[in-house]
Amino acid sequence: MINEWQARQQIIEVGRRLYQKGFAAANDGNISVRIDEDRFLCTPTGVSKGFMKPEDLCIVDGQGNQVAGEKKRTSEIKLHLSIYRTSDEVNGVVHCHPPHATAFAIVHEPVPKCILPEVEVFLGEVPLVKYETPGTQDFAETVVPYVHDSNTAILANHGTVAWHKDLMTAYFNTEIIDAYCRMLILARQLGTINYLGERQVGELLALKKRLGIHDPRLEMDDCDLCGNSIFREGYTEFAPDNKAFPPPEACSCSGTSPRAERKLPEVDLGSPATTAPSVPSDPEALVKLITEQVMKVLGNLPAGAVGANGSY
Ligand SMILES: [Zn+2]
Repeated sequence: MINEWQARQQIIEVGRRLYQKGFAAANDGNISVRIDEDRFLCTPTGVSKGFMKPEDLCIVDGQGNQVAGEKKRTSEIKLHLSIYRTSDEVNGVVHCHPPHATAFAIVHEPVPKCILPEVEVFLGEVPLVKYETPGTQDFAETVVPYVHDSNTAILANHGTVAWHKDLMTAYFNTEIIDAYCRMLILARQLGTINYLGERQVGELLALKKRLGIHDPRLEMDDCDLCGNSIFREGYTEFAPDNKAFPPPEACSCSGTSPRAERKLPEVDLGSPATTAPSVPSDPEALVKLITEQVMKVLGNLPAGAVGANGSY
């Protein structure tokens, strides 16, 4: 957990980036950080996220009651609090309306998996969450079933929400989902979508495991790797249908997922297999490390050839 001063700086920086990238038009979007067990710093309502000052932010308790700040807290605080309540590990939440990911939200098209290595490693499968009226408790509850098994969700007819143990990673994951959705829309116009194979995805999961990043597919049937949604049991009420991006292979699962250890392929990263890379706490360094490891798996780039922001 970071201190309140750092949290104010981070929220303002994330707000500025969201606005500049067109992820939060006008006064849209909201951001929060856990600053104490029962205290949360959050953005105000009715203020552009691109031009906030530290004193504009509000502090609420775990019930959403405002305990500090001149301006009124975001109307979406219930969504943030339902995520914090579901997982003690979450310390930062970003909700916004990035256009490409929101296009998937509008057509109820689930985001396909097994296409881009970094999406597999950073996000895993991204759930498409059913619609409820924004600002309501029903809306806040829609994301709860997915909090433990994912870190980013598409909200039907609305936008995205990302949560993580630090705010900057939740923000980076918001960038990743929108960039990915943009690439998918472009690629589909250009030609055939090529999916990664089971072996390649298995290697990425092995890498995730080494880096200590949870992915529920590590404990599920083989057919869940790419062919079926891992969230199908939660999709009883609202079942999104992959029309634009059908899964790479048709296979049937029993419907109940055995939570057993998946057998993973050996991944040769060019260092002794017993030495897992140490995971940095700084999110920018973590992005760089993971990008390097992914590229090493794919054998495209030598280590050290990745930019500090994770670009290559
Ligand atoms: Zn919204």
